[in-house]
Amino acid sequence: MNFAVYFALLGWVLSPAPARPKLVVVITVDQLRPDYFTRWKAQLTGGLGQLATEGAFFTDGYQDHAVTETAPGHSTILSGMWPAHTGIIRNSEGVQDSLAPLIGTTGAGASPRRFRGTTLFDWLKAADPMARALSVSRKDRGAILPIGHAKEQVYWYQSGLFTTSRYYADSLPSWVQVFNARRLPFKAANTTWSLLLPDSAYKEADNEVWENGGAGVVFPHVLPADSIRAAAAIAGVPAMDSLTLLFALEGFEALRLGRKGTDLLAVSLSTTDAVGHAFGPDSREIHDQVLRLDHYLAWFLKRLTDRVGRDNVVIVLTADHGVTSFPERTRAKGGTAYRVSLDTLITAVNHELDRLAGAGGAPREWLEFDTGMLFLRDNGRFAALGVKTDSILDVLTTRIARFQGVARVIKPADLARADTASDPVARRWLHHLPPDAGVVLTVTLQAGSVWDVPNSPIAMHGQPSEDDSHVPIIFWGKGIRPGSYAGRTNTVDIAPTLGALLGVSPLSLVDGHARTEALGPRN
Ligand SMILES: [Zn+2]
Repeated sequence: MNFAVYFALLGWVLSPAPARPKLVVVITVDQLRPDYFTRWKAQLTGGLGQLATEGAFFTDGYQDHAVTETAPGHSTILSGMWPAHTGIIRNSEGVQDSLAPLIGTTGAGASPRRFRGTTLFDWLKAADPMARALSVSRKDRGAILPIGHAKEQVYWYQSGLFTTSRYYADSLPSWVQVFNARRLPFKAANTTWSLLLPDSAYKEADNEVWENGGAGVVFPHVLPADSIRAAAAIAGVPAMDSLTLLFALEGFEALRLGRKGTDLLAVSLSTTDAVGHAFGPDSREIHDQVLRLDHYLAWFLKRLTDRVGRDNVVIVLTADHGVTSFPERTRAKGGTAYRVSLDTLITAVNHELDRLAGAGGAPREWLEFDTGMLFLRDNGRFAALGVKTDSILDVLTTRIARFQGVARVIKPADLARADTASDPVARRWLHHLPPDAGVVLTVTLQAGSVWDVPNSPIAMHGQPSEDDSHVPIIFWGKGIRPGSYAGRTNTVDIAPTLGALLGVSPLSLVDGHARTEALGPRN
């Protein structure tokens, strides 16, 4: 043993390890841009404002990967790994699992089967076998991915109920059944979402044609009179976040989290995403949603700190991605932005390959395109056709690059030569793609342009752009040194930083770094 190690160990043995906080709370706001904190700063007098002003705010926070969607974003936050290593690279192949059906309701089964690696909770559990986790969201992926494979208390919302899947349990515990029996989402029928503050507090125009598919664009927004339809529609209004936080708090009480060892409470709040998609990041609706979220979080954080003590809690607040304005709005303001679809092109190439193969019957999928990634299906079939995939990809690269709104078409093999310091797009693709994902081309749009969603003229995210990848990262509470911290910090840094704070080590390789400058006593 060398002397440095010896003295480090001696120091560790002689100085009592600082007590771990009893509760780690990780709040992920689905689709939250950091500029919201500055735009409405004076009005954020609740939980968001408290965390931002009293905590360590990393102002250059990023989900530093390419396909800025919910599943990849949530997979980075407590794993410390890029999607290239978590294996979660898109929503459509995120947590879906038909072998893990839901309990007590119908809907798509879900599990962390595709997730690779470990998370902060696994590291904590290895150090403290008594540690427990509760993870809650409106969305299955928002609840599942923050804690990876751990079979803990994991619940999400489906058709008016909070549920889990067979991956986690065979039945719902009584506190969940009691909560569901109150049928709160069904009682939201006919309720109204109106502005929290007087009209004059909102600078945004309310009546904008590009919002919400052109219908129901102004306040107040009223939920359907039918209770089953209301329980579905509640997902699109602020009350859903309030319901999610209420459920999380009741779980926290029922499980008596934070009373013995160190427990993890993860909450992912989805309404900002729903409102942001429907009304956009410049709307009066998103302004009011963020004010209401601020309000709800004040209530939630006070209940937690009243119960376990302010000095026993550490809180992280971040987001899974940002969002881009409606292209229609950008054009109305004199900018250039498009909704881009490659569907017709890819379908035509698939048909052409069918024709070459002489296949009868239904067309086969040789190539699949999803949110900027072109996947090759079954390389062997191309070889059997005698078609060189490289030549197809060269032709496609040229044709895709001509689409209005497309900025870059890059082959994954060419990414390795990019300067990752000066080329954030290439860096984010490198961070995104596992070598075995089958991605043969990446397509990045110009800033402001979005992938078209058929028949759904919504505001979108999913690009490796500033608007979509820039997110708030805030630490607050025990062991956190408050302040504003500049310099790029990524969501993969969150788990290593919490690990350093808790004195637990990653159980697998991580991509992030502990931001130790924010740890320690207050200055
Ligand atoms: Zn979204």
